[in-house]
Amino acid sequence: MKRATTTIQKKGMFLNKLCPNVEKEEDSNVEQLPPVYPVHNSEQQWDEMAPVLGMKFTNPTKLKQCLTNYAVKHGYDLWYEKNDKNKLLVKCCKDKEPTCPFRLWAPWTREERTFQIKSLKSSHKCGRVFKIGLVTYKWIGKQYFNILLENPRLSLRKMKSQISRTYNIIVSIGQCRNAKKFALSEIEGTLKEPYSRLWDYGIEIKRANLGSTMNMEVDYTLDGSLVSKRLYVCFKGVRDGIYKGELLVAVGRDANSNMFPLAWVVVTVENKETWKWFLDLLMDDIDRGNGNGLTLISDGHKGLIEAIKERVPHDENILCARHILANFNTRDFQEEGVFCDAVENGILESFNAEIVQARHKPTITMLEDIRVYVM
Ligand SMILES: [Zn+2]
Repeated sequence: MKRATTTIQKKGMFLNKLCPNVEKEEDSNVEQLPPVYPVHNSEQQWDEMAPVLGMKFTNPTKLKQCLTNYAVKHGYDLWYEKNDKNKLLVKCCKDKEPTCPFRLWAPWTREERTFQIKSLKSSHKCGRVFKIGLVTYKWIGKQYFNILLENPRLSLRKMKSQISRTYNIIVSIGQCRNAKKFALSEIEGTLKEPYSRLWDYGIEIKRANLGSTMNMEVDYTLDGSLVSKRLYVCFKGVRDGIYKGELLVAVGRDANSNMFPLAWVVVTVENKETWKWFLDLLMDDIDRGNGNGLTLISDGHKGLIEAIKERVPHDENILCARHILANFNTRDFQEEGVFCDAVENGILESFNAEIVQARHKPTITMLEDIRVYVM
């Protein structure tokens, strides 16, 4: 234990030596850095975000996003005493006496190209506030990208009351106006090719196949532009076909034993969060409350199995194994020994072959290949 601490101190010294330009922490009353530096996960739920000593951020925007979410969640009136491209010094309760002990110091480290929380006093003595200084119209706008993508006509009044319900904070109509303007202009202007075309594609799918679902979520890149983080497609015609028979998630079988791909997703990472998102959308789409048998076959991905446990827990309607077909890879689930008679049909293999060819193509081309194949 002692040895680990020594190593870290050495590493800290090493870093300081390497980055003479980084402003040194003037307040020596700091906690020790933990042995393993946590890396901030921007995929985390907004209300689980909190600054942790030693945590690294790839850019100041992510650090500020984390701090704003943390402030909103707890009603902390944080403010930036120093705020430039090389450092961030954060305190709590600017004009109140006595001020809160909270203090966070995060300089930029050039070698690692990260912002790291080098010192942190995380305790507070303040009471909850409802007007959070760190909340900017841009922060509000970002929370509304996906909502405004779905409903660009959302009224400012509705937005304001939604925000107070969801986040338990007070924002002004003016902030909402700016936030909406910001979000819509980002969506239109910054959603770069080919992602803006991807969105148009989704609108066209919904227009031409009434009742179909196409859900796209967006995220920021390092340069601040918007990209599609993940997207989900389920055609109404395909979905309706499965009501007559049993169901394989992702691959459905109708009353004539014809099998067809049911819904598919494009995600940047395969993890528990993306699988929960996929399952939620799929369960909505297939209205699983109607008591139809559900057969889920999986490739055994850990994130997926956890997601199923959470989202489709111990459902009596689930026949066969509680698994889901993940990568359309027949070899994977043969190895696992999970079989449904529905799998005997070679469609999975041919669908897999189709995917294998299509997956190397640009997103729209791939989606079109799958769509044409499904038709
Ligand atoms: Zn405080």
